[in-house]
Formats: sequence, C-alpha cells, structure tokens
Amino acid sequence: MKLKFCGAAGTTTGSQHLLEVNGSRILLDCGLYQGRRMESWERNQHFAFDPASLDAVVLSHAHIDHSGNLPNLCKQGFRGNIYATFATRDLCSIMLPDSARIQTYDVKWINKRRKKNGDPPVQPFYDEMDAERCLRQFVNIGYERPLPIADGVVLSFIDAGHILGSAQVVLDVTEGSRHRRLLFSGDVGRGRNDLLRDPVLADDVDFLLMESTYGGREHEMPTQADAHIEEVINRTLEKNGKVIIPAFAVERTQQLIYVLHELTEAGRIPEVPIFVDSPLAVSATEIFRIHPECFNEDVYNFLFEKRNPFGFEGLRLIRSVSESKALNASDESAIIISASGMCEAGRILHHLRNNIEDPKNTILFVGYCAENTLGWKIRNGWEEVNIFGEPFQLRANVEILDSFSGHADHSELVDYFEGTGGRKEKVWLVHGEPERSEALAAALRERHDGEVSVAKWKEMVEF
Ligand SMILES: [Zn+2]
Repeated sequence: MKLKFCGAAGTTTGSQHLLEVNGSRILLDCGLYQGRRMESWERNQHFAFDPASLDAVVLSHAHIDHSGNLPNLCKQGFRGNIYATFATRDLCSIMLPDSARIQTYDVKWINKRRKKNGDPPVQPFYDEMDAERCLRQFVNIGYERPLPIADGVVLSFIDAGHILGSAQVVLDVTEGSRHRRLLFSGDVGRGRNDLLRDPVLADDVDFLLMESTYGGREHEMPTQADAHIEEVINRTLEKNGKVIIPAFAVERTQQLIYVLHELTEAGRIPEVPIFVDSPLAVSATEIFRIHPECFNEDVYNFLFEKRNPFGFEGLRLIRSVSESKALNASDESAIIISASGMCEAGRILHHLRNNIEDPKNTILFVGYCAENTLGWKIRNGWEEVNIFGEPFQLRANVEILDSFSGHADHSELVDYFEGTGGRKEKVWLVHGEPERSEALAAALRERHDGEVSVAKWKEMVEF
C-alpha cells in the first residue's frame, strides 16, 4: 500500500492522507487548511489529487481542520461514501454550513484586497447548499462495528476521546496473502474528560499514523477544573458581577454546562441565571444530548438516572437575536457563555463591549486563542482593546483555565503510543508544527525499535 500526506504534515490544519491499496483510493480526513486568508483559499481550492478518482473518505472527527473541505471535495466530483460515526455526522451537519458562512465572510475580505491590486474577485469554494449536499454522502457506523469499505479493506472506528463522536481509524488490510493493520489516531484526547470516554487503545498495529500537536509540551493543569471554576464564579458573584466566558460552540460549551450543572446541584455555586448565547452552541448542545454512546460512565449514568446533563433549572439556551439583545441590556448577576472562543466574531463581542470596563466582572478563558485575536489580547492583559472598531479599557478581571484541552500532551501521547499494541513497524507523525512533531519523534525513538518519521507535506511512502 501507499500513503501520501496531503495536509496536516508540518502543520496542524488541513488533515488529509491518501491511502492507495488494491487499486482503491481512500482519503483519511478532508480538513480545511487554516492559515493566512489568501494562502488558505489557494490551498483549500486545489486538492493534491483528483477528487473524482477517490473511492471513499474516512472521517476521524467533526473538527473543521479534519472535515471542513468535504463540501468542496464533493463539489469537485467526489461521488463515493464518507464513513464517519453517527455523532460526527450530526456535528458536521451544523459545523459545515457554519464553515460555509465564515468563508463567505473571508472571501469578501480577500476580494476587497484583490480589488485594490486590480485582481479579479474569487468565489467562496463552497456554500451552505454544498455543505448540505455533501452530508448525503455520509455512511455512519458505530464504534467497533467492522465494515468492509473497499477490496481487502475493513474499517473499524474506536473511540479517540477527543470530541463527541471522535474516532481512531483502524484499517485491516489484506493484500494477496498478507494481513496488516494500519491505525490512524485522528486527534487523541487527554483521558479523564468531563464528558467523554478515555481513548481506546488498539491492538496488533503494524503501521501507525499519529498526531503530534503537543509533542514536547505538557499541559500545566489536570483535566478536572471544577474547583477553579467554582472559586472564580463565587468571587465574581459576591461582587454582584457577571462572569463572561468566551467558548467554542462545540465541546467546550457542553463541558462547561455539565460542570456548572454539577456545581449548582451540589450547592457549590449559588443559583444564578446561566445563559448560553450562541445559536451554534445551542444546536451542538442538542446533538450532545442524543449521543449517550459517546459519554463516560458518570455522564452516562447521570443521563439515565437523573435527566438531561445539558439542561437544568437556571440554564437558558438563547437562539434568537431579540433575547440576546435583552440579555445585553440586563444588569443582573449572571454567567454568560458565548462564542466565538477567540472573540473574533459572534455574540461574545456584544457581551465584551458591555462588560469589559467594569471591574466587578470576570472574563474567563477556557480555551486556546491564536496570536493577535481579540481573545489573545485580553488574555495577555492589554490595557486597551478595540471592539467593533472602538477602544475599550480592560478593567474586568481576567482568568485563564487551560484544563479543558481536547488534545493529549507530550506524556499523554507517549502513554498512548506505549499502550497501543503491536509491532508498530513504521510510525509517521502528522498534525504538528515541525518542532512539536520532532520532539515527540525523539521521545518515541528512545522507546521503540521501529521506524519513526515526521511526515512531510506531499511526500508518498510505500510499505
Ligand atoms: Zn480535533
């Protein structure tokens, strides 16, 4: 078989790996490359292969850097099946149209620049209808239900514990009389997640394609964050302030809802209105509720013994603009969760504008913010920031909680590698900045006799 690294090699976005075996061409992931706007547009528009020549796509999970270019792939002629878990499909049904909307916005920005330089305008490479149409090509299978997907290739998904529905891809390949197992890790979770199960460890792996996002880096905080959240909330509510939490609509928001539910029920925080003000987050929360197969034992039991882990008295999910506006006008103490997590767009901007200059309030960050985003500036304590083009003084208290990372850190990746059974004759590291992948490669080589390489973009390997 042959494997070509068509994306997320030497970087963390645009995950795409092309496997050729017994005359079939199977694409693992079809992610969006996310870098500078113009470069991203070019790279996402042109695939490293002819989409019509593919037989199937196997999707590890719904994150846009793994799934976000699927509508474009279908638009450019791919007609085969897209294999994914049920929860991944459901999350894609809201995330892909959302990605189309973001692109329409990005293309407007690109075209303004192009007009200045006298260049003709470009088009978004897919729209919301393309996103909907590509969903019709999904074929869903549950975890650990082996399914033949091509001549001599049987696919199984095992839980990756990274986001709802996330999977590691196990491919059992028969070429002539040889049987070999290829494992694609997808993104590997940390384990001990508030909601999800721990990553399942595969056996008998001959070839391993593994992520390396946090190679050489350790997360400073344990996975359990409830004590820190409790303390921040109580301190702010004592001053009659508001807690504003910028959070990614999928996963982070639901993790927060669950933790807040538990804290409220245990009487560890006072009963105070909690708002989720983001239409995407509200839709994602509904999807979480219908996928108990993805939950860890605690959440699973919670769901069946009590009730909805993502809905409780005091929690208000807001979709409509009018309700969102009313919330903006309110002076009451409250906890407000809103997107986007990096504060680049969305309703969070209104909440920041209204609350950032009052020292009673707290802005609580629970996720990563890329450099130069508004969220990054606030996290770094800038005295003044621009919101909707106007300057605001940062007087609110800023708190950072990094325990919620969905990615295993260096030690956790090494544990995952060691726990994965089999000879692991060849290992390729993907999904990492070069320095990160090299750091993990060095650690794995110390422990392992097989070949460990860092994948290079557009490189093809045969084995
Ligand atoms: Zn991911």
